[in-house]
Amino acid sequence: MGATLDNLRSVEAAIGTATREAGRSPASVSLIAVSKTAAADAIEPVLQAGHRLFGENYVQEAAGKWPELRSRHPGCELHLIGPLQTNKVREAVDLFDVIQSVDRARLAAALAREMDRSGRRPRLLCQINTGEEVQKGGVLPADADAFLRSCSREYGLAIAGLMCIPPADQPPSPHFALLRSIAERNGLAELSMGMSADYAAAIQLGATHVRVGTAIFGARPPMTRPETAGRTSR
Ligand SMILES: *Cc1c(COP(=O)(O)O)cnc(C)c1O
Repeated sequence: MGATLDNLRSVEAAIGTATREAGRSPASVSLIAVSKTAAADAIEPVLQAGHRLFGENYVQEAAGKWPELRSRHPGCELHLIGPLQTNKVREAVDLFDVIQSVDRARLAAALAREMDRSGRRPRLLCQINTGEEVQKGGVLPADADAFLRSCSREYGLAIAGLMCIPPADQPPSPHFALLRSIAERNGLAELSMGMSADYAAAIQLGATHVRVGTAIFGARPPMTRPETAGRTSR
């Protein structure tokens, strides 16, 4: 527990350093604490320390632990950063404040329908598959402009920004730069990029949200499901 809080403070300090070095204000970068696989007991001290911004990968897992955590700690902002299947859209819209993995027309249509039905309006980010990896979700860079246009014109969805997960075996900076250039030419303000290993580089390249799990909660147990990717049914 103590270790988790020390980790949180070190990451916050490193974000402060990275923003200063980039000539940016510390307030321009938000830290999303990625609590996937962390038990409620492990998240509790982070909440008690006042942190309110969290990311989860799986709708089911988040539904199991967050309703109770947030009832005890008002003011949380919960981000879905994992792939979203259309049959989980209702639950996701109900549970999450931000959905970062909008990446295909069928999902955009289902989100638009559910948002109309429920009156809930989670903020939406579009995931871009900057590394064009077959096993990963996200819109291909070449299709991004058209997809973003169709989100607004066909589905009436406001997209607030972009998210990417660079390939694990490549230097991340070119991917961050590519994400930023797609956001700039589409007039999008939010850039969710950078994880435990590379958030300083992401901040250098304009990240407004960094998603940090391991560096706060420690190493995760090995997963049976792919962690960051998971090609969803199309
Ligand atoms: C797990 C995950 C993270 C956090 O990764 P760490 O390396 O543990 O910081 C960030 N973003 C996404 C999409 C993830 O799935």
